[in-house]
Amino acid sequence: MASSPNGFDVAVLGAGVVGINTAYWLARAGKSVCVIDRQPAAGLETSFANGGQISVSHAEPWANPSAPLKVLKWLFDADAPLLFRPRFDIHQWLWIARFLVDCLPHRADRHTTEIVKLATESRTLLREIRARENLSYDQRTAGILHFYRDEREFAAALPVAELMRKYGCNRVVIDRDKVVEIEPAFEDNRDSIVGATYTADDESGDALKYTQALAQVCERMGVEFLYSSQAVALDAGCKGNSVHSVEVRTPAGYQPIRARDIVVSLGSYSPAFLRPYGVSLLIYPAKGYSVTIPIEGSNGAPVTSLTDDQYKLVYSNLGDRLRVAGTAELSGYSLDLNLRRCRAILDNARKLFPRAGNFSKAQFWAGLRPTTPSNLPYLGRTRSLRNLWLNTGHGTLGWTMGAGSGKRIADMVVAGDGAIAA
Ligand SMILES: Cc1cc2nc3c(=O)[nH]c(=O)nc-3n(C[C@H](O)[C@H](O)[C@H](O)COP(=O)(O)OP(=O)(O)OC[C@H]3O[C@@H](n4cnc5c(N)ncnc54)[C@H](O)[C@@H]3O)c2cc1C
Repeated sequence: MASSPNGFDVAVLGAGVVGINTAYWLARAGKSVCVIDRQPAAGLETSFANGGQISVSHAEPWANPSAPLKVLKWLFDADAPLLFRPRFDIHQWLWIARFLVDCLPHRADRHTTEIVKLATESRTLLREIRARENLSYDQRTAGILHFYRDEREFAAALPVAELMRKYGCNRVVIDRDKVVEIEPAFEDNRDSIVGATYTADDESGDALKYTQALAQVCERMGVEFLYSSQAVALDAGCKGNSVHSVEVRTPAGYQPIRARDIVVSLGSYSPAFLRPYGVSLLIYPAKGYSVTIPIEGSNGAPVTSLTDDQYKLVYSNLGDRLRVAGTAELSGYSLDLNLRRCRAILDNARKLFPRAGNFSKAQFWAGLRPTTPSNLPYLGRTRSLRNLWLNTGHGTLGWTMGAGSGKRIADMVVAGDGAIAA
């Protein structure tokens, strides 16, 4: 590793979509940057096979006034879109307590406003990065369509769409004919659709391809990468209120990486890493599943990115694959596949789009969304260590908010000033 004796300007911990966006904006600002990740390449954990949506229209957090009743109803249903498995885990209970507080209307409103703002900013920056760096990641810019097969669900979606419009996200209500015009794959099932909303400005694409392509851009810009290397500790002892190095376990042994500033983007693993340094984060893993179906020349796959609000599933066409993703389990850090839930996603997709592709070759995947109760990330400096920064906890929208939160944290680090996040 060729760093100067004084180390790097910034060490970014974590090479998921959030860490790589952070490194990119720091490098663009002229900083020398080192990215550290325990995996052999970028984007191999939660950013690996997500739903693919760049969805400002999905900004309403899970914690909203209608959530407590829904969650109570789902508590005893093994197939529920949001499954809560109580554990003897104080962190899980603290998270849930705050989640309930965040369901209060004024808090949910405030969080929705902030998420729409960050997500919109991020979508614009994503387009700018894509054009400037000539990135290609199976992106589609045909908008996102939320569809409903249940009158009550559709009725409940109307105020949400209105809320989105109030905050500047143009999520409009459309009828069945317009649904089929936008997404011809619904033709066979048009009678089951009771209504929909459409956000033309939203997008989709493969987050893994984007993350790895942007990591390559970063490399060309001089960013150094330490892969297969676990960040195990911060050396915060010598200088009181600052950190001066990260202790890293590399394949060649332990190595301190010196840096003037450190940004933590370790996703679901951020709280445990930071706890010893008095930084307490309310991030809990929300396990979700995805199913990737090879399209194999079929012409029945949807081409527009879709959201099925009732079953909490999203669909993104990634060129030669259809990705269907969703559901959430608050059940700790296990990445075990619950095949019943995976098959339920697959069956849903097959029922709706029977000619979408080769369902027998579908691939299942599970990932841990780094979820805060409000779904807003921690973005800013830490109270206890002046050069330790946070860009983590993006929950259901890390791909959507990644480019924007990367720019925001890079601006703060460059200015040496920013809001205290924790
Ligand atoms: C099923 C599912 C569907 C989703 N769909 C969407 C969607 O449609 N749109 C959207 O916007 N978002 C979606 N998301 C959310 C999105 O994928 C996440 O918010 C995002 O990937 C989080 O990125 P991250 O960089 O914070 O975390 P990660 O991608 O997990 O990156 C963290 C990195 O830190 C590394 N790491 C952890 N601990 C250490 C350590 N001690 N030392 C070194 N390295 C370490 C890991 O190896 C990892 O690479 C979905 C998530 C899931 C699970």
